[in-house]
Amino acid sequence: MMTRRQAIKTTALASVALATLPSAIAQTNSNAPVAAAPSGPFTLPPLPYAYDALEPYIDARTMEIHHDKHHATYVANLNKAVAEFPDVGKMSVEAMLKDLNAIPERIRTAVRNNGGGHFNHSLFWQMLKKDGGEPTGDLAKAIDSAFGNFPAFKENFSKAAAGQFGSGWAWLVVDANKQLGIEPTANQDSPISQGKQPLLGIDVWEHAYYLKYQNRRPEYVAAFFHVINWDFVSERYKNMAA
Ligand code: MN
Repeated sequence: MMTRRQAIKTTALASVALATLPSAIAQTNSNAPVAAAPSGPFTLPPLPYAYDALEPYIDARTMEIHHDKHHATYVANLNKAVAEFPDVGKMSVEAMLKDLNAIPERIRTAVRNNGGGHFNHSLFWQMLKKDGGEPTGDLAKAIDSAFGNFPAFKENFSKAAAGQFGSGWAWLVVDANKQLGIEPTANQDSPISQGKQPLLGIDVWEHAYYLKYQNRRPEYVAAFFHVINWDFVSERYKNMAA
């Protein structure tokens, strides 16, 4: 088995070899070890826990397909989109989404959808944890002040999640004035494109829950509240609202 260092070296050497091939050969040699080379600047972050860590609320098979297939596809398609625009590929995905109008028109929709998918899911995995407790510190106070109390927040957030028509997300956001709000987005749109920072988000695409909950989205939303990583969300609020 290759060590990681060896693998990096081999990949680097393969890239050099490919780069020095006459272009006609490089284009026709479809068996070249090109698949081993990085396919672009963006990479799929590993799931920070086991597939079954959120059972029984979110099942292992759903987590596996959601992360390994769906999120991976957003990353692959984002890499594909930026392949001809190296300057865009050097940007962080957050910077791209914050100013979509600055993205070349030809890839703007692809960046919005796949960059959004990559950004949203990268956050989503970290927002989840079994027995994640309740909001703490300043966030707990801010939720009480914005929504009345935690149960009222939960009710409003759940309504937004259940009510998002078709694929999308519901978010707890903090805006530029440090005010909390709840808002849904369609598809893979992210609140950061509207100048708001997502603190907590629930993915309500069917791929996030269909295997276990089928058409019963409200049951999935109720289950989601058992697996929120409130430490992560509270810490995020502390950094954003500081
Ligand atoms: Mn998803």
